[in-house]
Amino acid sequence: MVAKNDIKAGKIIIRENPLVVGPCVGGKIQCIGCYKNLEDEDKKFRCMGCGWPMCSKQCPGIDEIYGHTKIECSVLKECHSKTFFTWDDIEDMRTNYHSIVPLRCLILKSTDPTSFQTLMDMESHNEIRKNIPAVWLSNQNTVVDTILGKWKLTEYTAEEIHTICGILEVNAFEIGHQGVNIRGIYPTAFLMSHDCVPNTNHSDDGINFTLTVRASVDIPENHPITLSYAYTLQGTLRRREHLLDNKFFECYCRRCSDPSELGTFVSALLCPKCKTGYVLSDDPLNNDSTWSCNNTKEEGYSCPGYTISSKSVRLLIDRISREYETIDCNDIDSLEFFLKKYRNVLHPNHYICLGVKLSLSQLYGKIDGYLIYELTDKQLSRKIEICKEIMQTFDVIEPGLTKLRGVTLYELHAPLMVLLTREFERGFLTKDDIKSRLREVVSCLIDARNILELEPKISTEGAMGVAAQEALLQIKDWEKIIGKI
Ligand SMILES: [Zn+2]
Ligand SMILES: [Zn+2]
Ligand SMILES: [Zn+2]
Ligand SMILES: [Zn+2]
Repeated sequence: MVAKNDIKAGKIIIRENPLVVGPCVGGKIQCIGCYKNLEDEDKKFRCMGCGWPMCSKQCPGIDEIYGHTKIECSVLKECHSKTFFTWDDIEDMRTNYHSIVPLRCLILKSTDPTSFQTLMDMESHNEIRKNIPAVWLSNQNTVVDTILGKWKLTEYTAEEIHTICGILEVNAFEIGHQGVNIRGIYPTAFLMSHDCVPNTNHSDDGINFTLTVRASVDIPENHPITLSYAYTLQGTLRRREHLLDNKFFECYCRRCSDPSELGTFVSALLCPKCKTGYVLSDDPLNNDSTWSCNNTKEEGYSCPGYTISSKSVRLLIDRISREYETIDCNDIDSLEFFLKKYRNVLHPNHYICLGVKLSLSQLYGKIDGYLIYELTDKQLSRKIEICKEIMQTFDVIEPGLTKLRGVTLYELHAPLMVLLTREFERGFLTKDDIKSRLREVVSCLIDARNILELEPKISTEGAMGVAAQEALLQIKDWEKIIGKI
């Protein structure tokens, strides 16, 4: 998919409804009508027709096209599908959910042949997937055997079901808000190609699952329109592995080809030998390439030479990642300690550090004992420092009107404003100081609002956009104060 004309940042490129939506693979037990998580609910309600878990008799998804349709209910009822799971075995029950979206795709064959054809024309990579037992066998066991073996819906073929599984793996979008994980497959959005620095971002409206794809930066005529199928806050090794294992292709984008990842150093380690250079992959497009220190200056102090195998890098990163995962994600002290502990091992922009800092940027000012007005000046300055640091990397890997930048700009405005207020009250600031510092806050807020007001109001980001607008109005009061000084 390429731009026919120049496209301005913020412009809507695609807005469309899904062909099919439903539970994600590996998700929780959800209401099959509205996708509410039911695992933490005390009352276990079931659909009167088919017996599958539902939130209530009044579920808004009953008989809805993107919920639990009448035809789905009768298919699930007639094949006695409810007899194959019980609440006593949650894991097994979750596995039954893997077949819901494939079944919805199969049902389209008779209810909406045009949509079914659109779906079946998508890439499934069957030939590649057949040779990956972890993929093919898992689909065989959890989906094909369920639909054909247990439910005995023998009007469908194994080949057809495998193809649908492939189409979903390759083309589906993860959507949903507020902890609800669902996947949706859309008639044209799948045509966007992948780039590790995408030029669009997308969100669903949370009501009808309408997907909106917007340009996050200006896209020149004839330029590919891209999105990222991998998590952008990960290093090249991880992203390329994910793309190969899950999307079945090798990425050769600009970011993947550059050992420094466009100067961000999100995969870089600190050199243990010279302690000033960064250890980077010698050939990032080869996952088995060695890594070595980049400090080879002709003049001045250069590294005596340091090389490490990619296997050792992986082991090191896996170990540190595992340690990170054991930390309570709301524990500011432990997260700060973790950063300190690895400051001589990982580049400060390393994606693990980036993840920690992204959490910290939101925790300072939000959690008990660290509410924004409770923070010391030092803690406020720390929040500012973290936000500014991560913004520099986001500007490169998620440039333009992206949620990550919007949220971080919003986080940045608060400590700037509180510090400004405190110093003003202490009488430390001249009129010019106040003016220039207010200008910084206003510029953060305007950028944050301009990005986040594009998000659906139901989402956390959308709500932040509204808050940013309100904060801007409040700043008008400050302008009056300045007038009086
Ligand atoms: Zn429901
Ligand atoms: Zn039902
Ligand atoms: Zn790439
Ligand atoms: Zn070195």
